[in-house]
Amino acid sequence: MAKLMIIGCGGVASVAISKCCQNSDVFEEIMIASRTVSKCEAMKEKLQNTTKTVIKTAQIDADDVENLTKFIKDYAPDAVLNVALPYQDLTIMDACLAAGVDYIDTANYEPEDIDDPEWRAIYDKRCKELGFSAYFDYSWQWAYEEKFKKAGLTALLGTGFDPGVTSVFAAYAKKHYFDEIHTIDILDCNGGDHGYPFATNFNPEINLREVSAPGSYMENGKWVEVPAMSIKREYNFDGVGMKDMYLLHHEEIEALGRNMPEVKRIRFFMTFGQSYLTHMKCLENVGMLGTTPVEHEGQMIVPIQFLKTLLPDPASLGPRTVGKTNIGCIFTGMKDGKERSIYIYNVCDHQECYKEVGSQAISYTTGVPAMIGSMLVVNGLWKKPGVFTTDEFDPDPYMEALNKWGLPWQVVENPVLVD
Ligand code: NDP
Repeated sequence: MAKLMIIGCGGVASVAISKCCQNSDVFEEIMIASRTVSKCEAMKEKLQNTTKTVIKTAQIDADDVENLTKFIKDYAPDAVLNVALPYQDLTIMDACLAAGVDYIDTANYEPEDIDDPEWRAIYDKRCKELGFSAYFDYSWQWAYEEKFKKAGLTALLGTGFDPGVTSVFAAYAKKHYFDEIHTIDILDCNGGDHGYPFATNFNPEINLREVSAPGSYMENGKWVEVPAMSIKREYNFDGVGMKDMYLLHHEEIEALGRNMPEVKRIRFFMTFGQSYLTHMKCLENVGMLGTTPVEHEGQMIVPIQFLKTLLPDPASLGPRTVGKTNIGCIFTGMKDGKERSIYIYNVCDHQECYKEVGSQAISYTTGVPAMIGSMLVVNGLWKKPGVFTTDEFDPDPYMEALNKWGLPWQVVENPVLVD
């Protein structure tokens, strides 16, 4: 029986909260703490008569480490689940350390202000040394390793679907299917249709930053960077059909590259329709994806934040999104001296998710693993001092929990490979 503090109350959080409330045997009590307390209260109102889990709410600014530390100390949870934004990763990790509480999140750190000269100097050095230029990377959070170890605390990073489940799939493939893995292709397909000409399925600012960045993959331990959307493939996805997909930089490549150095090539592909790409290119060309404040009629505005205000709230896409997602990994390698290839994936239906928790499948496929990661930390199965990604624990209890909590997976031998 555990008490979990959940920070953030957006699209992903609302699924994680619903799933914790379905799992009252583990989550006896939850605290929903976010910037806009009315959203936390609305979630409480929606769920409190459906669950044995006691729900508390609070207003909190997770950028304010001092207040947040005091708040965590006063509430004394068993762990804090950060489903706010990647901008808050470090402040919440600092507060967890100061309060002596385990930390869990779904996305690695990136700064809100990429013009900050102190951050920029470190970023420029990393781009040169490592060879990829995404704004997000694990170095900031891996730097907390000694502090968490010394404090005897666990930080579980990136327990969403990708990253998160995809890295658990890699650990599972390594444990049960291969003596050596040679290549990993992570394929993220969203075959859903929300009926809008343009919308993002999770936080627009984070999403558009991610997909407009140069693509990259890891080969023989080194990063290879290519222009955004310059590598395109077609794949026939189970449950969805034929889709165009594009190579992107993605954070699990970095963690898997470090933790499974024997893998020769790791790539990530995501499907996009032509309309999405055309809109994004146009917005980029006119400067609407800019993160540097500009003056508009005497007021400073950040273009991408203004765009977020105009776009549909991802949390509102649930009722109108139809179709399925298919996210998984294709592994090739050797077993007992013979070549082997397998594909582990989950197919998730947008409308089924909406019926169950009132959200579309992108929030669902992230919020369920956020609950599962939190459960494994608080019940001690995935608890050890230090900072870890999801490929660094025994994958079996996580894989079992995916089947139980709404994200069943399958393993296909000899799948069609991506060239
Ligand atoms: P939303 O924008 O819907 O929600 C973010 C929430 O965080 C909002 O409730 C927001 O408050 C709150 N918040 C923002 N800043 C603060 C702050 N300073 N203090 C307290 N609360 C704050 O985002 P999503 O739910 O779409 O995404 C949540 C996280 O999940 C992101 O980190 C995203 O990158 C990650 N993600 C991970 C995926 C994976 O597979 N691993 C896939 C998809 C998303 P307010 O309501 O006031 O805006």
